[in-house]
Amino acid sequence: NPDPKTIIVSNRLPVKVVRNDEGMDFQPTEGGLATGLGSIYKSGNNLWIGWPGATLYSKEEEESTLEIMQSQSMYPVFLTDQDLELYYEGFSNETLWPNFHYFNQYSVFDDRTWESYKEVNQKFADAVLTQANEKDTIWIHDYQLLLVPALLRKQKPDLKIGFFLHIPFPSYESFRLLPFRRELLLGMLGADFLGFHTYDDTRHFLSSVNRLAGIGTDHGIINYNNRQIMADALPMGIDYDKYNDVASQPETIEKEVEYRTAIGSPRMMLSIDRLDYSKGIPQRVKAFEKFLEQHPEYQENVSLVMIVVPSRYQVGKYKELKEEIDLLVGRINGRFGRLSWTPVHYFFRSYPLNALSAFYRMAHVGFVSPLRDGMNLVAKEFIASRLEKKGVLILSEMAGASKELSEALLVNPNNQAQMVSAIKEALEMSEEEQISRMTVMQETLKRYNIYHWVDLFMSRLDHVKNQQLAQK
Ligand code: UDP
Repeated sequence: NPDPKTIIVSNRLPVKVVRNDEGMDFQPTEGGLATGLGSIYKSGNNLWIGWPGATLYSKEEEESTLEIMQSQSMYPVFLTDQDLELYYEGFSNETLWPNFHYFNQYSVFDDRTWESYKEVNQKFADAVLTQANEKDTIWIHDYQLLLVPALLRKQKPDLKIGFFLHIPFPSYESFRLLPFRRELLLGMLGADFLGFHTYDDTRHFLSSVNRLAGIGTDHGIINYNNRQIMADALPMGIDYDKYNDVASQPETIEKEVEYRTAIGSPRMMLSIDRLDYSKGIPQRVKAFEKFLEQHPEYQENVSLVMIVVPSRYQVGKYKELKEEIDLLVGRINGRFGRLSWTPVHYFFRSYPLNALSAFYRMAHVGFVSPLRDGMNLVAKEFIASRLEKKGVLILSEMAGASKELSEALLVNPNNQAQMVSAIKEALEMSEEEQISRMTVMQETLKRYNIYHWVDLFMSRLDHVKNQQLAQK
């Protein structure tokens, strides 16, 4: 028997297939999960199972993808265009995503997307079963795969299974609105350990387990089918040293100088988000507009640099949001702009790491104001990039990160007056106070980094498994 390995399972693999004129190319996937877990899956004989980021149209394409991925410790799950439309865009992003972020008016309930969600979760489970040995550890990620833990448990009752949810788990009052709520909970309860970003998410999950599945819970311990399961809060960290190091690279500093000169404004506020209604982008632009209106002395003195990364554009609500943002930015720039000064510098695209780091370095204020966010890694990356410890973070209370970053200026993104005064406070904060707040936040993020998070997750999972064995 080979040494036990860890199998990571997530919707997307850390590498994606990209089509170009010559055929196929392989590129890294954006986002925190890929970089964060890269460290563990590459060591030993570990494996990452997920979708390779594009639909493949022939046996040859699938075979060559399989071969290349396997040589890099990955195993692809191939999905059809219909799977992507129904399971991914449909149930995952038009049903679960809005419900879990308290946007229930956006939730679509459709039996076809639910059927597809079940089928695709089964495809992922089948892929895991072809690769897993009895002693392996399976770590399943996120809302697209809520049924996979139970599908695995059914086939292999003793498997060690962990699950982490990267988005909020909503209050029972929201979750209960889902037609398939009980099946989803029982799907998750196939895991031995379930991790959430915050204590509130954990509490909400336990409450739903109790009230919707009728299963008793006691301080994070769930007894289900004579198996002890544990749920706990485990806020995800970032690769702190990586962001800190990139911020000091010559390429980053060159870019910073280039951007700073081009933008020309004495001071800059920065926001970076995927295009998503949960991110509160229109509310942020409106608060900035109000600020310029109420404090005309800041006109020509500060600009908002706003990066919006294209995302889920096939989903109707995302298209509408894009149009709304375009209009708002046009309005504020038309209203206040001068030849020598642009109030909002708006970019609808993604950037490589050096460029992101240059933006993080040059901003005086990080402006992170989601209406709801599981964690928000951008807030943490901004902190880690402030080599001189100056700068201010304005952070929404509705982001999971706010539970750890209490030295930020915390705001309710629905309270425009409070956002406006936070902008003023941020721009007027003494350097001494900036440094003292930043120092505390940096220490926290340095200590609770991504490696620490992975270790903690694994040790909790081992602990539950040992408890189960002790009870047998
Ligand atoms: N990001 C990126 N390319 C970009 C802009 C952002 O890869 O052009 C990364 C960013 O560094 C961060 C992630 O995307 O790690 C966004 O994570 P966050 O938790 O803030 O939001 P999510 O998109 O997961 O909702």
